Amino acid sequence: MAMVRSAWLKYFGASLLEFFLPRMCLFCGVPVGETAAIAVCPECEAQIKWVASPLCTCCGRVFESRDGPDRVCGDCQKEAPPFTRARAAVIYEGPLVDDLKQRPVLTAITRFKFSRQLAFLPVMQHWLKQPLCLELVAAADFLAPVPLHPKRIKNRGFNQSLLLAQAFPGTPVAREALIRTRHTPPQVGLNPKERQDNVKGAFSVTDPARVKGKCVLLIDDLYTTGSTVKECARVLRKAGARRVEVLTVARVNH
Ligand SMILES: [Zn+2]
Ligand SMILES: [Zn+2]
Repeated sequence: MAMVRSAWLKYFGASLLEFFLPRMCLFCGVPVGETAAIAVCPECEAQIKWVASPLCTCCGRVFESRDGPDRVCGDCQKEAPPFTRARAAVIYEGPLVDDLKQRPVLTAITRFKFSRQLAFLPVMQHWLKQPLCLELVAAADFLAPVPLHPKRIKNRGFNQSLLLAQAFPGTPVAREALIRTRHTPPQVGLNPKERQDNVKGAFSVTDPARVKGKCVLLIDDLYTTGSTVKECARVLRKAGARRVEVLTVARVNH
């Protein structure tokens, strides 16, 4: 009973606080109004580059030239990835953009993941509700968050991919369809080949019967070179998955 009461207090305490405090933009602090779907002001929203056609039908890279249809990019023609399609909601600006206000995507991803600012979660979940992303969700039998090693979960307190996957309540999330069997150093700072080697053999399917013949949608926060999701896709395909697709909040557009 004590536990129920404390949960109740926590819930209504937070709601009360929200009721009395004006809702602020998470990126610049200006009031956004109570009816805004997410705590992002129009000016910060305007900084976001959405993933849009023309893009690679396979890896989802956005073509720099705005002309022409969706098509398979040179890299995917050279070597087809082990997933059918990868899509992201927004383009990752990268750390080279000086002004913090001009990189809301980087801010959301890093503050959520490394500073545990959970207020950014509904923003990223909202970004994931683009038609382009929902198409992949609708085609999936279940969502599989890219797993973290238990050591990393212990440090961080949560798996960001699992929380992101909960953006789609109607679609089952298989939180342990795939597990991380090897603790690997972070991918940041590694070149594409090193990234590939770093995650090789790091994942395993817990119950192949669960993925056999299924369409699996991998969920992660960021697609950089794709080495992590490619390794996950390989392992899932090897275990008998019929199709593996990838959905991330953001992608680096080389
Ligand atoms: Zn703002
Ligand atoms: Zn491609």
